[in-house]
Amino acid sequence: MTSTARESGKARKSTAARYQMFIDGRFVDSEGGKTFEVFDPSTEEAIATVPAGTAADIDLAARAATRAFYDGWRSVTAQERGRVLLRLAERVRARRAELAELETRNTGKPIAESEYDMDDTATCFEYYGGLATKINGEVLPVPADAVAFAMREPMGVAGQIIPWNYPLMMAAWKIGPALAAGCTVVLKPAEQTPLSILELAKDFEAVGIPPGVVNIVTGDGPGAGAPLVSHPSVRKIAFTGSAEIGKTIMRSAADQLKRVSLELGGKSPNIFFSDADFENAVDGALFGTFINQGEVCSAGSRVLVQRDIYQKFVEAATAKAKTIKLGPGMDRDNKMGPLVSAEQRDRVAEYLEVGRGEAKVAVGGGKPKQFDKGWYIEPTIFYDVDNSARIAQEEIFGPVMSVIPFKDEAEAIRIANETPYGLAAAVWTRDIFKAFRVVKALEAGIVWVNHMQPTFVEAPWGGYKASGFGRELGHWGVEEYLETKQVFINLDEKPIGWY
Ligand code: ADP
Ligand code: MG
Repeated sequence: MTSTARESGKARKSTAARYQMFIDGRFVDSEGGKTFEVFDPSTEEAIATVPAGTAADIDLAARAATRAFYDGWRSVTAQERGRVLLRLAERVRARRAELAELETRNTGKPIAESEYDMDDTATCFEYYGGLATKINGEVLPVPADAVAFAMREPMGVAGQIIPWNYPLMMAAWKIGPALAAGCTVVLKPAEQTPLSILELAKDFEAVGIPPGVVNIVTGDGPGAGAPLVSHPSVRKIAFTGSAEIGKTIMRSAADQLKRVSLELGGKSPNIFFSDADFENAVDGALFGTFINQGEVCSAGSRVLVQRDIYQKFVEAATAKAKTIKLGPGMDRDNKMGPLVSAEQRDRVAEYLEVGRGEAKVAVGGGKPKQFDKGWYIEPTIFYDVDNSARIAQEEIFGPVMSVIPFKDEAEAIRIANETPYGLAAAVWTRDIFKAFRVVKALEAGIVWVNHMQPTFVEAPWGGYKASGFGRELGHWGVEEYLETKQVFINLDEKPIGWY
């Protein structure tokens, strides 16, 4: 277990809220009875204990999901599956304030960002509630004497593993399309942030999710995540997290030729040409990097700036970064909260050390002095960064921007693509020809023009290259949970074979 999820053992007494996990329609402890603590990153205090799930719990959940799939869910009408998701969305909207507060207490993020997350969560369930009735097959134009068509069928039990940066929203991105497709689910939230989905699970029965259709098993990666990946009844793994664990999961899934979709990290370029609207550009650089404390897979943390505005840009971004108010997310004045865990804070602090040896510091570069509690890191801008530097190549997952100068369009494209990753990118310019040329040249799954980060549930999300494969959201999202069955119907009463 990590430092933020220490095993606290069976007998430990705690004043923190006691959560159970959700298996086969009931809230239960883990088989072994062990628990771990989860924390408020702004106070460093434990706010809850949660069961430490093991292979035995995963097995119970996978069996429940298997029964629920074969005994019912796959035959529930698409209309009813859609209505279930719409009712779930209504519950998220009704509980918006409460769930947002819980999300902020558990992740540290500003409350306004958690409120946006709750809206996006509800919108995602609504989208897939609507899509459930639009999953169509195709009739195919084969030669005469036959009819051939393609049917879409649910894969079965989906194992879903999610990260800690957008806890409830990531759960919605996974559960929404799976249920729309007719799959059942075993979801393992991140060990740092399991609370919001466990809260929402209290409404599963009321909205009509039958027992076993969605199971939530809490625990850490080796203890609960790995057995989920290797469970023989689980047909597909959907994972969002680090590239390192993505590779581990892919290797493990290979043993059973299990379907895998991976949304991994990035080191996304945010490209600023000198003809961009300057004020918007500076704002966009900060927003693209520092939203959610920089704990964003699509963070635009490689800021590429054209040389003729480079100096002015670094100065303006620095001045603005100094005005970002840090503090507990529950205080609406604060625009940046602490990082999710001591472990993550330390990981980012190590990169700041690395960065000081590789580039120049414009602002930040350490732990802020004004707090005696809380896992804070100052919003940090490094400049004169070489694209081969570690702070330009490795995902930091914290409020750290690396600014790199470029001469012209060709150089910008070359630098932008010189990374193993390919999740996202953005280009800022008022020249529409240039914008489209750069969009076409970038190797990334999401490309913004004159903005960075907003995304809508209708549009596909996922990466090129080492950022993974498969797409979430939109109609692409539901494809990840569907098999395709070809059906051939012979119309020739005396069909001819070879023998
Ligand atoms: P981070 O290190 O930033 O927490 P990870 O990629 O390790 O990112 O974690 C993302 C998710 O993957 C979490 O839910 C975590 O528990 C899970 N996880 C970690 N290790 C494994 C593993 N070996 N197998 C399956 N899931 C894992
Ligand atoms: Mg990890």
